[in-house]
Amino acid sequence: MRFSHSEPQPASARIWPVFLPFAGCPYRCVFCAQDKQTGRDHADLAAILDQLETDFDSVLAQGRGPYELAFYGGTFTALPAPWPERFLDLATRFRKRGLIARVRCSTRPDCVDSDGLERLSALGLDMVELGIQSFDDEALRASGRGYSGAVARGACDTVRASGLALGVQLLPGLPGDRPGLFQSDVRTAAGLKPETARLYPCLVVRGTPLADLWERGAYVPWTTDRAVRELAEALPVLWAEGVRVIRLGLAPEPTLDENVLAGPFHPALGQSARALALLEIIRTRVAELEQRPSLLEVPSRYSGEFYGHGRELAPAYFELGFSRDSIRFVDTDSFLLE
Ligand code: SF4
Repeated sequence: MRFSHSEPQPASARIWPVFLPFAGCPYRCVFCAQDKQTGRDHADLAAILDQLETDFDSVLAQGRGPYELAFYGGTFTALPAPWPERFLDLATRFRKRGLIARVRCSTRPDCVDSDGLERLSALGLDMVELGIQSFDDEALRASGRGYSGAVARGACDTVRASGLALGVQLLPGLPGDRPGLFQSDVRTAAGLKPETARLYPCLVVRGTPLADLWERGAYVPWTTDRAVRELAEALPVLWAEGVRVIRLGLAPEPTLDENVLAGPFHPALGQSARALALLEIIRTRVAELEQRPSLLEVPSRYSGEFYGHGRELAPAYFELGFSRDSIRFVDTDSFLLE
């Protein structure tokens, strides 16, 4: 039998990330460590804008691009005037010169409204990624996010009604977490049909209020094993609605690596979760085959993640009836199972 991976096709545009740590944020959230993620504890907006102009001129002269410009790390829609206008004006000038194809930003669900988004859309913004974290009132309250699940859902509707593409970010394992909550949040997110999702299991980072809670024994983060299992369960739910999952876990950075105190922080977290999700797809197909499998051809683009980190899933494929020789990576788009 032939079948395809259920994951939507990846986007082709390259992202040009611009980090604005804590810029526009009404306060610092208990878990947030933008300073450790970016190596900077505040954003000098004028310096960032100047540097961006210099860098864009330089890469344009080298004939590179186009890029999708992405403003991350703060609350873009709550930046003080005239900073959103200045950043979007720069993007528009370089869009006209062919360097920028699209512009996105991240922000909080309680910092968007129709008028503001329509104004930013008219200035050239294309997409808003909402740091939802959870749709659950209890988890939001225990994490001090300052908004309800209804506000989070309403913000998704507001983004789409403003003609902007929607991205959502979930942060499973927050204070107030309980069994089943993340999968419930994933189903809610999938039902909103965003273009993209990012899933960042909660980490305890030095210097955050969450680190104090953890040190007092008042917060217990997820284990890496649980994070892998939960993310692997979430992926097919999002993929089934055409949602591209563009990040699983925080990317390792030297300043982050040395400051993570606890939680599911592993460089191969995403690889392990994606591999486990793919194993479940293949397990289902093998059951449909109703005989011991003799061959599995796998599109070669999955060769790096197929067996998981350190071939951790090789025994599971063996148990399904495959030998090392019966699994082949081939230059094709679909899987073949015989
Ligand atoms: S989680 Fe988002 S809103 Fe909260 S402090 Fe960090 S960047 Fe700002």
